[in-house]
Amino acid sequence: MFAHSTYDTVVIGAGPAGATAAALVAEGGHRVLLLERDTFPRFKIGESLMPACGEVLGRLGLVDRLQTSHFPKKFSVQFFSPSGQASSPFYFSEVECARHPQTWQVLRSEFDQLMADNARAKGAEVHHGVSVRDVLFEGDRAVGVRGRGPGGEAWEVGARVVVDATGQNALLARKLDLQEDDPNLRNASIFTHFAGGVRDPGRDEGATLILHTTHQRSWFWSIPLPDDRVSIGLVAPQDYLVRPPKRPPQQVFEEELAQCPGLLPRLEGARQVMPVQVLRDFTYKARRRAGDGWVLVGDAYGFVDPLYSSGVLLALKSGELAADAICQGLSDGDLSGDRLGAFEGSFLRGMEAIRKLVYAFYDPDFSFARFLKRHPQYKDALVRILIGDVFRDDVDDLFVPMAEMVELPEAWT
Ligand SMILES: Cc1cc2nc3c(=O)[nH]c(=O)nc-3n(C[C@H](O)[C@H](O)[C@H](O)COP(=O)(O)OP(=O)(O)OC[C@H]3O[C@@H](n4cnc5c(N)ncnc54)[C@H](O)[C@@H]3O)c2cc1C
Repeated sequence: MFAHSTYDTVVIGAGPAGATAAALVAEGGHRVLLLERDTFPRFKIGESLMPACGEVLGRLGLVDRLQTSHFPKKFSVQFFSPSGQASSPFYFSEVECARHPQTWQVLRSEFDQLMADNARAKGAEVHHGVSVRDVLFEGDRAVGVRGRGPGGEAWEVGARVVVDATGQNALLARKLDLQEDDPNLRNASIFTHFAGGVRDPGRDEGATLILHTTHQRSWFWSIPLPDDRVSIGLVAPQDYLVRPPKRPPQQVFEEELAQCPGLLPRLEGARQVMPVQVLRDFTYKARRRAGDGWVLVGDAYGFVDPLYSSGVLLALKSGELAADAICQGLSDGDLSGDRLGAFEGSFLRGMEAIRKLVYAFYDPDFSFARFLKRHPQYKDALVRILIGDVFRDDVDDLFVPMAEMVELPEAWT
């Protein structure tokens, strides 16, 4: 079924994290197998990118392809208050020496296909329709994977390193019982696509909008997509969305939409073109990033509330950092957990910064406008986090003054 019985690296899952890791390890001259359960193209949520994605996408050689694609260009994020009042947009270009003043709103069906094709072009062996059932261990060391092919046939393949990029399925973190939820961010989401609707003109046309509902227990995203499509999603605490009496998700979605004065006029005359989908989007993280012969990337390691569209960035970045650690480990003959997870410190600091900003947004007594009025010198630092420029030593400076105005989470261990 596969070209070889053993590989330098087997990557499970061809989302952004797995495709990045596979592409970069293969580019390093190693034998890579990338296994994806689904047949592409397939619908996937996670359509808005952060500008810092451009760094990894540049390394993968994909920026020109995206720039000439039909994906809307995103220059800013704009917030709407419970009464529907719009804040001034946060333009990414406002950051001093912004390296990536713009990013894209993508159809994940096309984006993920592009990423997987890129991994194949760089030398990875890519299979779709192949589900991995288990990771094989000898003692504490991962040595391969086993699974089922498209026709249900069982197989096993050996690996010097196994990369778990299975997204929220988190195959290894669940097997090893490593997952830890953030009890304060147990949210769920209901989302769909509309056709039509109002878009702002000029450079605001591709902006992500974050819109509070009047009662502030939920919020909506609005993400413009190619043609006249727009992705509309609702996020709220899970126990609020599923409270009795039990109602169909479509009804919940419509009831919440009726409470969102910033969004309603924009959807006038628009038509829903997809049944709503429901996903739980708990914030969680694995207690360990890596072990001997295995490493977790993307959502398979951790996930932060979708508020700031950080998921694909964290997937790309962890895929890149893991690939570098694997290439180094393969050439040194050291594939220990310490080596494969050595990038964890700076990565986690960046992920934590996003989580802190999520806490600030959800605190009804906190407002970014009030914070910036009191501390205008921190506007740059704030926009840098919205850009995704979070993997740096001084990313936390902003949270010293912010902690005086809002309760921020304890650091994850
Ligand atoms: C409601 C919601 C809204 C979001 N909005 C955004 C957004 O606007 N912007 C953003 O950046 N992020 C967003 N995200 C997050 C984003 O979707 C994820 O963070 C991102 O897709 C993670 O990439 P990944 O490669 O880690 O995992 P995934 O993209 O989930 O890819 C994992 C892949 O692994 C495959 N797989 C799983 N199990 C197996 C198996 N056993 N064998 C083989 N293959 C397997 C799956 O089929 C899948 O293709 C959102 C998330 C939610 C829940």
